[in-house]
Amino acid sequence: MRLVMLGPPGAGKGTQGQRLAKHFNVPQLSTGDMLRAAVKVESPIGLAAKSIMDTGGLVGDDLVIGCVQERLSQDDAQRGFILDGFPRTVAQAKALDELLDASDLRLTGVIELLVDEEKLLQRIEKRAAEAVAKGEEPRADDNPDTMRKRLASYRESTAVLSNFYYNQGRLLSIDGMREVDRVSADILEALS
Ligand code: AMP
Repeated sequence: MRLVMLGPPGAGKGTQGQRLAKHFNVPQLSTGDMLRAAVKVESPIGLAAKSIMDTGGLVGDDLVIGCVQERLSQDDAQRGFILDGFPRTVAQAKALDELLDASDLRLTGVIELLVDEEKLLQRIEKRAAEAVAKGEEPRADDNPDTMRKRLASYRESTAVLSNFYYNQGRLLSIDGMREVDRVSADILEALS
């Protein structure tokens, strides 16, 4: 099972991706998590990405593609994967196709979570509040200003991927505003 989760920030890609990873026993690969880990250890990639992430922009294609290429070459990813937050540009989507093509592989499908953007801001505020309640540090980019920039980045660079994958016949569009369990069930049904 090789899936891509598509949708704006706060759409539920992480939550649903995690559930799918468990269901299909494949790793969930989140480029946001990879980059946050790099920022934490102050690696060269982390140092290059930090200010861009803090302001809600997109980290350069080459850097992100390099991270994904390395991660996909690891043993556990040979069974399949759920990509969460990648690709985010057409260049990344083409690079992913080429990477898979080189091993004669294709994506199984692309799950697009359709959401009401008005409600996303509330979801992000809730996610930040939940992190605080658990005694965790909220994500630096989970605040209304950065969220607006992240949504703008999504509209400018990522939304076109719906068409890209629709044209490939791989797009599965799911109503992401329903209750979490219902969204999971709808995704599994769409995949069956
Ligand atoms: P996420 O956790 O997916 O919301 O990602 C958090 C931040 O990491 C994004 O706002 C971007 O700055 C950066 N990022 C994550 N994935 C990518 C990607 N595929 N391309 C460019 N930047 C990314």
